[in-house]
Amino acid sequence: MDLKGKTAIITGSNSGIGLGVARELARAGANVVLNSFTDNDEDHELAQSIGGEFGVSASYIKADMSKPEECRALIEKAGACDILVNNAGIQHVSPIEEFPVEKWDAIIAINMSSAFHCTAAALPMMRKAGWGRVVNIASAHGLTASPYKSAYVAAKHGVVGLTKVTALETAQEPITANAICPGYVKTPLVEAQIPDTAEKYDMTEEEAVQKVILERQPSKDFATVEQIGGTAVFLCSSAADQITGTTISVDGGWTAL
Ligand code: NAD
Repeated sequence: MDLKGKTAIITGSNSGIGLGVARELARAGANVVLNSFTDNDEDHELAQSIGGEFGVSASYIKADMSKPEECRALIEKAGACDILVNNAGIQHVSPIEEFPVEKWDAIIAINMSSAFHCTAAALPMMRKAGWGRVVNIASAHGLTASPYKSAYVAAKHGVVGLTKVTALETAQEPITANAICPGYVKTPLVEAQIPDTAEKYDMTEEEAVQKVILERQPSKDFATVEQIGGTAVFLCSSAADQITGTTISVDGGWTAL
């Protein structure tokens, strides 16, 4: 796969899936723009190390994906956007009646609205370049639900809907929009859920992983960030030119249940 000369912007990419996707796109030859809301030396060093490892141009741009103007500024500052990966996301687990309103607002803003703002800023650049790929990192929770994750499930279903609309609005152009729906991938976001889940179900952390977290993942194994990155690279390939407006599950059989 040769993405040489293409610029990919990956939101929320100093960790986890976003970093894995950025690395796989860079391995395929794309120049990458990493992002998060921090502005530490390590963030810039991470970009530099990816650039050196894969021989591509790589930079880091700070932008808080909970703020519409910063979402749009990220795309503008990057100066080019052939591939947009809307990945930034957070989680909070709580019953609806106790769900903190500020957590609901933050999850809707970061996990869903940021994809809208970044897509709105990126589409004109893709149209100008005559080629584009929007890859939204949704979730198995964009297709099905679990208790205690109201904001996350609502946001991810919203991302799947936005993906379909983006695909329809670009259907007759060389631009595609698709969503990847991972099941459980072992990243900091998931690791943070293990102690909460163990406490909620009064289990050890190991039991919480096997019996609760991976309960609905028939493979009984986590997906890897490299597999999510590889799926993104496939969606950027010419084999995927006619794949648009759809979801690709990478979930060990979860949504087949
Ligand atoms: P993670 O916590 O490792 O990474 C989240 C990334 O988003 C980090 O780089 C973080 O800095 C960034 N981020 C958080 N808030 C931000 C903000 N306000 N502005 C900019 N960046 C921000 O989590 P992850 O598991 O890699 O999750 C990445 C995406 O994948 C999320 O959208 C998540 O919902 C989705 N996902 C994860 C899993 C999983 O099992 N890990 C499964 C399905 C979907």
